[in-house]
Amino acid sequence: MVRPDWAPNEIDLERPSIARVYDYWLGGAHNFAADRTLANQALGIMPSLKSAILMNRAFLRRAVRHLAAAGVRQFLDLGSGIPTVGNVHEVARQAAPDSKVVYVDLDPVAVAHSRLMLANDNQVAVLQADIRDPETVLGSSEVRGLLDLGEPVAVLMVALLHFVPDSQNPAGIIAGYRDRLVAGSHLALSQLGAEPGEEPEGWQRYRDLYAASVTPLSSRGHTEVTAFFDGFDLVDPGVTRIPLWRPESPEDLGPDAARFPGFAGVGRLSA
Ligand code: SAM
Repeated sequence: MVRPDWAPNEIDLERPSIARVYDYWLGGAHNFAADRTLANQALGIMPSLKSAILMNRAFLRRAVRHLAAAGVRQFLDLGSGIPTVGNVHEVARQAAPDSKVVYVDLDPVAVAHSRLMLANDNQVAVLQADIRDPETVLGSSEVRGLLDLGEPVAVLMVALLHFVPDSQNPAGIIAGYRDRLVAGSHLALSQLGAEPGEEPEGWQRYRDLYAASVTPLSSRGHTEVTAFFDGFDLVDPGVTRIPLWRPESPEDLGPDAARFPGFAGVGRLSA
């Protein structure tokens, strides 16, 4: 297989990656046969996945618009993925042209492609780091060089924490960011999760496939996702099924919003 110039040498083209599988589902071009095979297997098992992913992306856009309208001008997009249509800096700038964004991801393709795309943009920085280490992320030259941590920052963890099991203390990771940010900062978060008895068709087989191929998925329900906002004041309407967080159109709602397998919310850090 020919290695394209956006694929760093260190990556194994035969092993699927979360970021590239997601890129394929979103219609992107930065993925390989191994990623497409896994992506198609997952869709075969759980056909509702495709619309679920699009609805998650729509939540990301609504949340960023809300944050910009609330006066936030600094965004830290953790687990940002491979750039695609409607990236955070594009959405934020439509509302507030002076918005600054730091994209953080562990995946070499996501980082290489982000850097390539954003090389001439001095309001955006790209950091390759593990989001489970808040001190390193917030202390990095990329963050320190662009964001003023004395001013509010919106931390985005969108479709991210289902890749962080409870044994790795996701609440502690969130606290690691929260405790270094000033009042007026925000957390916007979404993650996959089905309440018992409400699992969509193929849910368990999808989780088994991911556990065997890339990484286990930690499913969390309403109560657990709400607990992630400890220390934040939830903005209306609180933690909801992802499509039900401030939907703006029938497309945002999708076919079965009340049983959607994932939850989202936005919280504000008060003084
Ligand atoms: N946030 C984007 C969105 O919602 O469209 C992309 C979500 S994608 C499903 C999850 C991303 O999180 C992937 O790009 C993956 O590489 C990244 N990721 C997972 N665990 C990570 C970690 N520990 N540190 C940094 N990035 C991580």
